[in-house]
Amino acid sequence: MTDIRSLYQSLEYGPVLESCQPASDWLDKHHRAFGHFINGQFTEPAEDQQLEIRNPATGDLLAGVSHGQQGDVDAAVDAAHLAFASWSSTSPSVRARYLYALARNLQKHSRLLAVLETLNNGKPIRESRDIDIPLAIRHFYYHAGAAQIMENALLDRAPIGVCGQIIPWNFPLLMLAWKVAPAIAMGNTVVLKPAEFTPLTALLFADICRDINLPAGVINIVTGEGKTGVLLVEHPKINKIAFTGSTDVGRDIRRKTAGSGKSLTLELGGKSPYIVFEDADLDAAIEGLCDGIWFNQGQVCCAGSRLLVQESIATTFYRKLHTRMNQLRVGNPLDKCTDVGAIVHPVQLQRMTEMVETNVAKGQTIYQTKTELPPKGCYYQPTLITNLTPTSSLMQEEIFGPILVSTTFRTPAEAVTLANNTRYGLAASVWSESVNLVLDIAPKLECGVVWVNSTNLFDAAAEFGGRRESGFGREGGWKGLNEYTKFSSIEQRPLSRKTPKNQTTVPKHVPKSIPIDRTIKHYINGKQVRPDNGLSLEVRATGGELIGHVGRGNRRDLRNAVEAARKAQPNWRSQSGHARAQIIYFIAENLAAQSGSLIKLMDIDERCAQPVEAAEAEIESSCNLLFAYAAWADKFDGQVHAVPFRGLALAVNEPVGVVAGICPPNHGLRGFISIFAPLISMGNVCVLAVSGKQSVLALECCKILHSSDVPAGVINVVSGIEEELAPELAAHHDVDGIWHFGSPDLTTKIEYQSAANLKRTWTAANDPSRSLNSNSVQFCQEFLAHASDVKSIWVPYGE
Ligand code: NAP
Ligand code: MG
Repeated sequence: MTDIRSLYQSLEYGPVLESCQPASDWLDKHHRAFGHFINGQFTEPAEDQQLEIRNPATGDLLAGVSHGQQGDVDAAVDAAHLAFASWSSTSPSVRARYLYALARNLQKHSRLLAVLETLNNGKPIRESRDIDIPLAIRHFYYHAGAAQIMENALLDRAPIGVCGQIIPWNFPLLMLAWKVAPAIAMGNTVVLKPAEFTPLTALLFADICRDINLPAGVINIVTGEGKTGVLLVEHPKINKIAFTGSTDVGRDIRRKTAGSGKSLTLELGGKSPYIVFEDADLDAAIEGLCDGIWFNQGQVCCAGSRLLVQESIATTFYRKLHTRMNQLRVGNPLDKCTDVGAIVHPVQLQRMTEMVETNVAKGQTIYQTKTELPPKGCYYQPTLITNLTPTSSLMQEEIFGPILVSTTFRTPAEAVTLANNTRYGLAASVWSESVNLVLDIAPKLECGVVWVNSTNLFDAAAEFGGRRESGFGREGGWKGLNEYTKFSSIEQRPLSRKTPKNQTTVPKHVPKSIPIDRTIKHYINGKQVRPDNGLSLEVRATGGELIGHVGRGNRRDLRNAVEAARKAQPNWRSQSGHARAQIIYFIAENLAAQSGSLIKLMDIDERCAQPVEAAEAEIESSCNLLFAYAAWADKFDGQVHAVPFRGLALAVNEPVGVVAGICPPNHGLRGFISIFAPLISMGNVCVLAVSGKQSVLALECCKILHSSDVPAGVINVVSGIEEELAPELAAHHDVDGIWHFGSPDLTTKIEYQSAANLKRTWTAANDPSRSLNSNSVQFCQEFLAHASDVKSIWVPYGE
C-alpha cells in the first residue's frame, strides 16, 4: 500500500492558467495600436514609427506602439509645463483625492493589470498579481497621504516643475508608480517614458488617468526607445530627471545633465550580496535565496545575486540549494504554479547566455536545474555558479538573469570585505540568528538597503536606493518626497558683502595688514603642509594691498587630503552623535575665543570698508551655526517606518563618506563653516577647497580646528584656484560626494566629472534659491539631508 507521503510526492502539477481574455479585450479595444498619452488624450498611432510589442513567453505579437520623436516629446513637455502652473497651486488636499482615485482605480483593474503585465514582461502571474500590482497601488495610497499632509509636514518645500521619468522593463507598472506617485503628490507634472519592451501597463494606466478625469497634462506618457529617453534628458524645459536602469545609461545621463540645473536621481544596477552565516536558519535562508535571485527571473536591480556562504556550512548549504532549485517550476508565466517565467526579450536572453558562456573558467562549477523548458519562448534554467574568485567578472558584473554566483568566507570581517568588493552598493541580505552579529554587520555594508533574515522587502513608506555606482537619491519614505521638492525658504536674504550705507569704516585700532612673512599652508591630516608644487598665490585685499600668500594646491595635495580623509573616516563615523557634538561645540567655543585674530583678517580681507561690528556679527552667526549643527548631531536621527509588515523597517541616516566641498569664496568664514559643520555633524569626513581671500580665513580657522580636538583627517583644507581644484575632486574615484555653490560653468564641469564614479553632487545649479545665510531649522535640515544617505534596514520579528 502506498503511504500518503509518497503519494503526495508523486502527484504531478496540473495546469492552472489565468485567463488572458480581459487583457486581449482591452488590447482589441485599442485596435492593438497605440499613440502617446499627451495632454489627457491618446495621439493617433504613428504609422511609420511603430515598435512591435511581443509576449516573451510565446513570441506572439501583442500590439504596436509609437516610437516617440522630438515633436511628441515637445508636445508632452509643453502640456506638462502648462499644467504645472495650475497643478502646483492646486490645494494639496485636492491632489490627495486624485491620487486616492488613482489608487482605487488601479485596484478596480488589478487583475487586468496583472495579466497584461505578465503577457508583456513574462513574469509569473503569481508575482504580478501578488507583488507588482499591490505594491504599485500601495504607492498611490501612501502618496495620497503625503499630498494631504504636505503643507504642514514639509515646511519650506515646493514642487520642482516638470519631471522627465525614464523607467526599465523589469517592473513596468511598479516603477511607474514609484516615479509618478511622489512627483504628482508634491505638485509636479510628469512626462514618463516606459521601457521599449514593456509599455503596455503604462498605456492602461493612461486610460485610468482619463477615467478619473485627472487634469490634462499632469501625466504624459511617451513611448519609445532609448533615443526618446535622450530627448527627455536633453529637453530644456524639463526640471528634473528621474531614471531607473543600467549604470552605463545613468552615467551618460549624469554627463548630459551636467550644469543644466536639472535635478537628478539615478536608481542603477547592483550586484547585491546575500550573506549566510553558519548560525543562520538554513532552510529559511534557502527560501529567501529563491526569492532573492529567482524572483522575476533574477531581473531585479537589488537581486541577491552574489551568494557569500560561511565556509563551515558551504557544502550543506549548496546541497540543500540544489534540492530546492530542482523544485522550481519554470514555464508558462500565466500558470499560477509557475515560479520562474520567461526572460523579457530574446536580446536579454542572448546577453546573459553569452555572459555565462564566455566567462566561466576552469575550476568553476555550474549547476543548472533539470526542468524541461517550454519548446518556444525566452527561458533560462535557474543556475548556480560556485568556486568563483572575488575578481571574476561573473562576481563583479550585473548579469540580470536567474544566475546566482557564489564564493565562501571564513570570518564576519571577511564577509564584509567581500560584500563591499564591488563598484555597486544597492542592497544586501544578511542571515544569522545572532542579532548582535547582524546589527553589527548592517552598518558596515556599503549599500542603501539591508534585509536581515529576509530579502526583497519593499514598501512606499521605506526608502529605497543605492550608494556608489548604484546611483543616488531615494524612492519612497520621507526622503523620497524630498527628491520631488526643493527648498524654498521664506528667508531669502542674500549675504551682502557690500558696506551698508552710512556706516563708518574700519576702526583705527585694526591693523591694515598681516605680517608678510606669515606662511599659510594647506591643512591636511591634522597638520599644516606646504603645497606639493611649491607654488603660491597672492591674496590681496579689496583695497589692493597684499594680505599674504597661500599655497596653490594641485592634484597631489588633493590626493593626500583625500587619503587622509579616507583613513579618518571609519573612526569618525563610528563616533556617537554626542561625541561629534562635543567637538563641534568646542570649535564654536574656540572660535569665539579667537575672534580677535579672525576679525583682523576679515577686516583686512574683503571688507576693508566694513565696520568691525559686521565682522563680529559674522563670528557670532558662525558660532550659532556651529551650535545648530552640534545640536543636530544627535538629533537628525532616523525613523522606524510604519510598514504593513511584522517587523521593523528602520531608516538610519548614514554619512555619505568622503565629501569634497568647494567653498563659496565670497561667503567668507560663514561660507566655510556652512560646508564643513553639517558634514562632520553627520559623520562625514571632508576635503575642502578654498580660494581667494576666503582661504586666508579658512586656514586660520584650521588652527582652531586643531585646538578643538577635531581628529586628524576629518577636515582637510587645500587652498588654490577653484577652477583647478574642483574638477580634480569631482573626478577623484575615492570621493563619495561633492558640494559646490558657485559659477554655472564650474558646476557643469563638476557634474560631468562626477559621473566617473557617480558620486553625489549638490550644486547651486540644482537649487539656485539657496542662500548660505540662514540659521533656520529647514535650512540646516537641507544641509543635513545632503550630508547623509538613508539606509533602510528591515528586521522581521515573530516566529
Ligand atoms: P537601460 O538601457 O538602462 O534602460 C532603462 C530605460 O532607459 C529604458 O526606458 C531605456 O529605453 C531608456 N534608455 C536607454 N538608453 C537611454 C539613454 N541614452 N538616455 C535615456 N534613456 C535611455 O536598461 P535596459 O536596456 O533595459 O537593460 C540593460 C541592462 O540594464 C540590463 O541587462 C540590466 O543589467 C540593467 N538594468 C537595470 C535595472 C535596474 O533596475 N537597476 C533595470 C533594467 C535593466 P529602452 O527600453 O528603449 O532601452
Ligand atoms: Mg536599453
